[in-house]
Amino acid sequence: MTAATRQDSFLEQAVQLGVGELHFKIDQRVGLYAVVAIHNTTLGPALGGCRCVNYPNSSEAIKDAMRLARGMSYKSAICKLPYGGGKSVLMRPRLMEDRVAYFEVFGEFLEQLGGRYIAAMDSGTSVEDMDAIAHRTQHVTCTSDQAGDPSPLTALGVFRGIEAAARFSLQRSDLEDLHVAIQGVGHVGHALAALLHEAGARLTVADHNPTLVKRCVDEFDALAVPAQSILDVEADVLAPCALGGIINDNSIHRLRCAIVAGSANNQLSTPVHGMQLQQLGILYAPDYVINAGGLIRVAIRDEQQAHERVMAIYDTLYEIFEQAAKDEQPPELVADSMAETILYSNQPGGHSHDPMSLAG
Ligand code: NAD
Repeated sequence: MTAATRQDSFLEQAVQLGVGELHFKIDQRVGLYAVVAIHNTTLGPALGGCRCVNYPNSSEAIKDAMRLARGMSYKSAICKLPYGGGKSVLMRPRLMEDRVAYFEVFGEFLEQLGGRYIAAMDSGTSVEDMDAIAHRTQHVTCTSDQAGDPSPLTALGVFRGIEAAARFSLQRSDLEDLHVAIQGVGHVGHALAALLHEAGARLTVADHNPTLVKRCVDEFDALAVPAQSILDVEADVLAPCALGGIINDNSIHRLRCAIVAGSANNQLSTPVHGMQLQQLGILYAPDYVINAGGLIRVAIRDEQQAHERVMAIYDTLYEIFEQAAKDEQPPELVADSMAETILYSNQPGGHSHDPMSLAG
């Protein structure tokens, strides 16, 4: 593919996804290769995580930023928060000599964007990194004096989502002895494991990091399996809490669970996989709805109010499951249509401005 056709395909993808702005920053002194995707600012400034992970190439990084930014718009809309959707993706350098300087330079870049995008913590970034960004701009959250790590509330939202899915799909009024397989026991996965253990659930866990696995075995009596086997585990619930794209052509027929409900963003590799889950009779909790707890935490300063809104993820998901069953549609399409009604109903042309309809 030539550079020109690659550029065209980015623009096409941006149009398909409804992404409004793409910004790039390169600073070779500190090894910064950054993409900021702003999907939509109809409801307010774009708020979304700043991810710093390995990418095989810049195309994958840009694609990831655009898809994640769209998810943030939909997440904000469905949670009725006054924010738009955006995401920043930093291609992690092989060697980062001065991490503070790296994030300070990124902070200068965000300052130039004038507040249209507000950064938050995400995979591969920490509260300390957000503090470094804050040396150069106020357009950042999850700093040590503002919200901090949102993972515990993300985990609470996922826990509430699992409760809703277990009631809807398995007619369970509690989680006693429910078997949950958790893929990835990092920030969210570990906090989720704690909540599920407390509620009496049985856990099977996997992570590439053996220390994190051992912590779950010791603290929650979890069963450990190799990372490559977690999708084969026969369980009531599979909770993907690692990275996206996990439900794909290779994995979907290995699943032996009744419910897929976890924190990872973009769990479905393509929309077709959502339809396949429905055909297989596996209930899928749309990722941007079930993992909205962290966003709610950073968007709503009042802790009590934020907690209440996270608890209500149960009701939102239950309503989506009911509507999906009634319409015989996959739950993520019902969620998309609820979010699009909120996002696009105030724009000229109303709901007909569904960006996906431009897909051609
Ligand atoms: P994290 O980096 O702390 O944890 C992810 C864990 O998954 C790591 O321990 C990693 O070793 C493990 N992992 C990666 N690939 C794996 C694989 N193939 N098999 C098993 N384990 C694997 O990240 P996190 O903050 O816990 O977030 C987890 C997911 O939830 C991410 O997709 C993130 O985007 C999403 N999410 C997080 C939040 C939040 O508040 N942290 C909010 C919304 C969504």
